Amino acid sequence: MKGTATTLDSLLDLSVRIGRNPLLVQASSGNTSLKIDDTLWIKASGKWLAYADHEEILVPVDLPECLECLRTSRSLTAKTDLRPSIETFMHAILPQRVVVHVHSVNTIAWAVRFDATSQLSERLDGLRWQWIPYTLSGMPLARVICAASVNHPETDIFVLGNHGLVVCGEDCDAVEALLFEVERRLAIRPRPAADPKPGVLERVARSSHWRLPDADVLHTLGADTISRRIVDRGVLYPCQAIFLGAALPHFASSKGFSEIDGTSPVVVVEGSGVLTNENITAAEWAMLNGFAEVVRRIDTCAPIRYLTDQEVNNVLGENGYHYRMSADNQVRRSAP
Ligand SMILES: [Zn+2]
Repeated sequence: MKGTATTLDSLLDLSVRIGRNPLLVQASSGNTSLKIDDTLWIKASGKWLAYADHEEILVPVDLPECLECLRTSRSLTAKTDLRPSIETFMHAILPQRVVVHVHSVNTIAWAVRFDATSQLSERLDGLRWQWIPYTLSGMPLARVICAASVNHPETDIFVLGNHGLVVCGEDCDAVEALLFEVERRLAIRPRPAADPKPGVLERVARSSHWRLPDADVLHTLGADTISRRIVDRGVLYPCQAIFLGAALPHFASSKGFSEIDGTSPVVVVEGSGVLTNENITAAEWAMLNGFAEVVRRIDTCAPIRYLTDQEVNNVLGENGYHYRMSADNQVRRSAP
């Protein structure tokens, strides 16, 4: 019978493939799970899917106990050193054996739009999908998805407003095929990477801890007028706020660096590009690249639904802090 061959090994293989695609997963974002009898094997918080082939990233969770915790609003206690992902409840309530959640840059570029449902209806026609308006990760999101799944149990694709994508199925092969079908349909041709102005950036960076990054895509955030306008108006999705701050700092020559938060991973030099902090961590680097990829896929005329101040504050609460710290482990990005 199809599905019985699904093992933890095949979940780990799938996790590595997804985790190494920066257009799907950045740093420790994204999570995968597999249900075997009464156990939910779920990615641990802070672990990177990309390293599933040489690090322990999965943690076993008692499924009935997990569902009871959700019912009674009790937090799940970890039985090992690894802490289950914040999205464990969402994985637990879905009836399918295999669940994959990614921060696909193509999906997010659609999911930050006020007209997302009509745009997605056109592109996902014929697939069993549902739109989930933005909801805080953890129990709140799990409850909304649970209601959506109970009403339409055949749903195997959930597009999460201002957040990402969930795809599920009975085995890893089916889920991977479905994920790539969704990706194919939602693919957006990005605006070309904007040419940075190295002369200006190098002059600005001289004698500071800001460095000229070697990734042209990043410079889009400062050198491409459309992207800069999108970024300046607010926060598009939670990981942006958690890893890059509620607003990207701008360098103004009249003020120098004195008014810029020196711990920010990035600073925008208007019209020229960006500079990155010499202490930028691997997680911040991955998130920053993913962010630039999302922004350059958002259409010039898109009606954007930014997170509200209240939503950003909730994201930056205790869970956001722990998420960032565990993802980073303060590992500096290795020099290029
Ligand atoms: Zn997520």
